[in-house]
Amino acid sequence: MTLKHLSASIALCLSLGACAAPVDKPTDASVDYIPALQQGEAVFWLALDDSGQLRVENGKAIARDVSAVNIVQVSDGYLVATIAGVEATPTLYLLRDNAKRVERLATLASPNFLVEGLCLAPEADGSVSLFMLDERGSAEQWVVYSDKQSLTPAQLRTLPIAPNATACAADGNGGLFIAEEEMGVWRYSSNAEKPVSREVVGLASPYGELGEGTEAIAYLGNNLVTVTVDTAEVHVHQPSDNGWSSTTLGQWQGIEEPEQLRAWYNAKDGQLHLQARDDASGEFARKSFAVAGGQLDFSAPAASEQSVKLVQPSVQTDPVARFGDAADDPAIWVHPQTPEKSLILGTDKKHGLLVYTLDGKQKQLLPTGRLNNVDLRYGFDFGNGIDDIAVATQRDDNSLSIYRVDAENGHIQHVAELPTGLEEIYGFCMYQNGGNTYAIANGKSGTFEQYLLQADNGKISASLARTFAVETQPEGCVADDATGQLFVGEEGVGVYTLSANPEAGDAPVLIRGVDEIMVADVEGMALYPAENSRYLIVSSQGDDSYVVLQSSAPYKVLGKFRVGANYGAGIDAISETDGLEVTHRSLGKGYEQGAFIAQDGHNVMPERPQNFKLVPWSDIAQELNLND
Ligand code: CA
Ligand code: CA
Ligand code: CA
Ligand code: CA
Repeated sequence: MTLKHLSASIALCLSLGACAAPVDKPTDASVDYIPALQQGEAVFWLALDDSGQLRVENGKAIARDVSAVNIVQVSDGYLVATIAGVEATPTLYLLRDNAKRVERLATLASPNFLVEGLCLAPEADGSVSLFMLDERGSAEQWVVYSDKQSLTPAQLRTLPIAPNATACAADGNGGLFIAEEEMGVWRYSSNAEKPVSREVVGLASPYGELGEGTEAIAYLGNNLVTVTVDTAEVHVHQPSDNGWSSTTLGQWQGIEEPEQLRAWYNAKDGQLHLQARDDASGEFARKSFAVAGGQLDFSAPAASEQSVKLVQPSVQTDPVARFGDAADDPAIWVHPQTPEKSLILGTDKKHGLLVYTLDGKQKQLLPTGRLNNVDLRYGFDFGNGIDDIAVATQRDDNSLSIYRVDAENGHIQHVAELPTGLEEIYGFCMYQNGGNTYAIANGKSGTFEQYLLQADNGKISASLARTFAVETQPEGCVADDATGQLFVGEEGVGVYTLSANPEAGDAPVLIRGVDEIMVADVEGMALYPAENSRYLIVSSQGDDSYVVLQSSAPYKVLGKFRVGANYGAGIDAISETDGLEVTHRSLGKGYEQGAFIAQDGHNVMPERPQNFKLVPWSDIAQELNLND
């Protein structure tokens, strides 16, 4: 088909609303054919001609004035992102039934930069991120789709990337590849919850194999395909034990300045098919390489089975005042009559104690210093009345920071700072046995000090009841008041148990070491007493998840979960959790079975200082089948 015929057929398409001329083979040198991939094979094509008209192969016109296109498969079809019009507006479309139905999903605000590259990245939680590259060295990441809920696209973050980025590609498995002009290709994490870091995939001369660099990259199967500038060498990059390795497929004769690379595979002919725009001629060139029977596999791997369950946060607290690692550990105070009036306590290790209502709004701030962990108990005899008591570890002077919590309404007052013998005071939990209330604090060296708290006419004192130790840095701990059992975590080693009663005098016994299920650091931990079982929930910080295990022998792992984003409510996922807390008591409607709350190490959508996020326990119990 000549360009003239193509334009004529588009005019017809527009006037009739649908086209009769199918595009079934990428042949036209003036058209960018964009493969819709399934297992690496093209199941249909989009066609973007040189007038900016974007169509699907059955002839349906999608948009005009299009300057960039990317497409990925999602659970209900194919998601297409375009940049269109003089305003360079990013627009999202959903193509259902192999593109028989085209639905316009959303239009984003035009970025205030020239979009150098556009790519869609499917994420593990069933969402899709859109990355738009700014050649000045940053990229905007937006969430644009979720297979779990309808959403309004929202910016997740701005991330620093290579300057003069020319192209990007995503692997659908957490990897975002960015080509930096004259330098090479980097891999970033596409997960907005991850801190920004990058690794080298391939480098230009003299550092690596990529000659003058590349502006043409595409991901297919388990491979990143790149074509070098000038020499047009085709490289296939794969992850290996020590970084990335690459194989040269051959030279692409006849193309001078390859860009906008598209790649697909055809199992029938065993060929890897490539298409790129030659910036020298402005035309699209195509080339095939026989790869069947070789080392390379271009059919996409089947999705791995997800044994980590996903739940969503229902509420998040206001962010703490400052960026950086600040929010750390929560506690929950349950109102005696009206569960909806319960409160969330949270430490800010740069500031003091924060108190939030259940809708996440900050209610109180007690600027009592660098607090690390906090815990509380009910019904403490202050000698001049019974109230509830909260205690936090205070790093400015290695003390216990004591708070009186009004048992009627939860109003909190700072009442004392009690010294400890610990250096670098750190983790903390409380234990109550009959009339005795204990504060159990640890220091970074591994030493634990357990204090009996007593009060006379409102004046609190602490007497050391025992010390014990683990070998390296501990932090999280939790005591089960009903069974008298104490659990303590050694961050790089695992979880131990021992009696919470000081006179028992036993040593900590390791019940579970860190491994690929419970990934170091072991951080916050909490207990949930169900009807017949008692669950221990531990922050597996190394893989942004939580492990639920039996709190008695054989301490079997009952499940593992992550808290993904609730895009509909505008709440991002929880990652890199330090402290967490669980209550089995009702917090009111939606939380009849209690709640889980955890610190979020990276607060995005939008980017703000850290905070705490709440999940109904019933959601966790249901996902993990914890039904007794
Ligand atoms: Ca942290
Ligand atoms: Ca706590
Ligand atoms: Ca820690
Ligand atoms: Ca987060």
